[in-house]
Amino acid sequence: MKNPFRRGKPTKQQGWLSRLIHPDAASSSSALFTYHLREKLEQEGCPLCRLVRESEEHWVWTLLYEFTGDPEIHAKFAAAGGVCSEHATLIQQVTESRQLVTPSGVARLYETVTREFLGEIAHPRPEQDCPLCRYRHQAEERYAYFLATTLADPKWREALSHSDGLCIPHFKLTLAQANREVRDYLIEEQARRLKDLLHRLRELQRKQRYDVPEPVTPAESAAWREALWRFGGMRFDRLLVRD
Ligand SMILES: [Zn+2]
Ligand SMILES: [Zn+2]
Repeated sequence: MKNPFRRGKPTKQQGWLSRLIHPDAASSSSALFTYHLREKLEQEGCPLCRLVRESEEHWVWTLLYEFTGDPEIHAKFAAAGGVCSEHATLIQQVTESRQLVTPSGVARLYETVTREFLGEIAHPRPEQDCPLCRYRHQAEERYAYFLATTLADPKWREALSHSDGLCIPHFKLTLAQANREVRDYLIEEQARRLKDLLHRLRELQRKQRYDVPEPVTPAESAAWREALWRFGGMRFDRLLVRD
């Protein structure tokens, strides 16, 4: 996809997206980014997965609270035929769990989606991408850019090394934004993790054979789960943002 930060600076968001961006989650201030990053590095799994997910939750909340009457949003939803199943689940969770959001907002958006689709049901247009998936890609690019910039400071490199580290999709995005020094660090850091993971994946298989009496360590028994999120990115069943 097109990388909005190729030239090294975040470009201004355009139109409907700019109005939807939560002032907190999507702030272009790197001080605010490092504030949130510090917190995520202490939690389980990939810190960028968590930041992106929180940003999506803010986006959905803002959308449902403020923008369900916006003609541009209605046009985007209609052109996409609504959101994908993953983001439909997120919209449902936010509507059911967060304050100040009512089902009528979702009903209003999907009234348009339904009506427009009915108008073309015999000859449906090819659908555009889910608007929330598009938002997520932009948020990922933005956070990867901030992370790559932040890691110029050795103190932050050490903090990342002590955390669970990045999933592979976010490792790749951050690598693409990094200068040479940060790039070298990221590759070495991720290679160290993956070698350790590889060892544990092998040990788990070996020790699970009936003729091997050695006990499986907790780190080894966690290896297959780690491999799944490390390579696929993290999925969250519940909302990360609370009222
Ligand atoms: Zn991630
Ligand atoms: Zn989606």
